[in-house]
Amino acid sequence: MAEDRDDIATRLVAAGRQEDWTGTPAYPGAVVNPAVWRGSTHLYPDMAALRRGRPNADGHFYYGRRGSPTQWALADALTAIEPGAAGTVLYPSGVAAIAGALLAVLRPGDVLLVTDNAYEPSRNLANGLLRDYGVETRFFDPLDLAGFEVACCDRTRAVLLEAPGSLTMEVCDLPALAAAARARGVVSLLDNTWASPLGFPALARGIDITIMSLTKHVGGHSDMMMGSAAAGPQWYGKLRRTALMLGNVVSPDDAALALRGLRTLALRLDRTTAAALQVATWLRARPEVAHVLCPMLPGAPGHDAWRRDFTGGCGLFSFVLAGGTSAARDALIDALRLFGIGYSWGGFESLATPVDPAAIRTASSWPPRDWNPEDRFGVRLAIGLEHPQDLIDDLAGALATWRTAAGF
Ligand SMILES: *Cc1c(COP(=O)(O)O)cnc(C)c1O
Repeated sequence: MAEDRDDIATRLVAAGRQEDWTGTPAYPGAVVNPAVWRGSTHLYPDMAALRRGRPNADGHFYYGRRGSPTQWALADALTAIEPGAAGTVLYPSGVAAIAGALLAVLRPGDVLLVTDNAYEPSRNLANGLLRDYGVETRFFDPLDLAGFEVACCDRTRAVLLEAPGSLTMEVCDLPALAAAARARGVVSLLDNTWASPLGFPALARGIDITIMSLTKHVGGHSDMMMGSAAAGPQWYGKLRRTALMLGNVVSPDDAALALRGLRTLALRLDRTTAAALQVATWLRARPEVAHVLCPMLPGAPGHDAWRRDFTGGCGLFSFVLAGGTSAARDALIDALRLFGIGYSWGGFESLATPVDPAAIRTASSWPPRDWNPEDRFGVRLAIGLEHPQDLIDDLAGALATWRTAAGF
């Protein structure tokens, strides 16, 4: 498994580069990265050429919505780091990628299975637009393989997976779920934003369509939004045709930013994974903390599955306070100086947000039944590139504030 990852780290450097778009090294103006090709119109030399059109194959240019060299360089680079991918489609956000991929697969009358710890906007899509279009969604407990089998019926067309789960970080048995889905003719889609192909090469592990919010790690600098979906030959063409019909296109400026972020992805993931592990280890030893939900942490929930199936981690994890109140948790987050308060993650800056999934779960319970029910106020940390000891010092101060607020 280590081989997959090392191979990807090397390919990240030159992935997506084409001399047509950068110049050949013999040409004095040659550059490393493709230029930002802004354009709606691609010009043709004459009427005969316009009538002939241009092939609608990947990397050919017809009209701006079908992509320019900057977008194709990014799509090609993402394909190059996803073992088993026939191609990658870009979308204006991660949510647009999830919607575009599900619309490529589902028909009215189908049943969609969604893991109960999915990203909340994925649930809203299933319970909103997809319901309006005649797709029925059933949520299932990601840690209950038998429950997944029970939830399948002859109308089940697709399953949307996510691991670790948003906020609560459960790591389901992805290879087993992918195999169970395939055995039943159910299309498996994975929101792989947390691990990226460096941490989980999804298609190589049996997933049919792998989706990422590029807004997070790939962009890496909190300055753009984008999403992607990659698949093998069976689904790639359908993904692309559906995206064209939906009019999905990303700006070349954003594509260039994503491509720039991609070059340092392995470096940033290694650094934030190690820092997150250091912070998580420190938090686990604190009396104010009841649970640390960090799959990379030995002994933490999901660690065994993570170690077996994943080749890397990232800086995103959660912890749950030992009792206290919602107001005490607010006081903790407000007391942090180095962690910003805001959504998203995968940027160079650390962020903290509250974790309160109880109200949205329908197929599993939060907090888990075997916990003390008082321990339910969670905090999600996105660890950035600050020095981990500074982050620990900041958390120590905030926990002192929490003790006072919680009467601990
Ligand atoms: C942020 C996020 C998304 C959505 O990405 P956007 O680019 O913000 O639309 C999807 N899945 C997960 C797990 C995310 O954290």
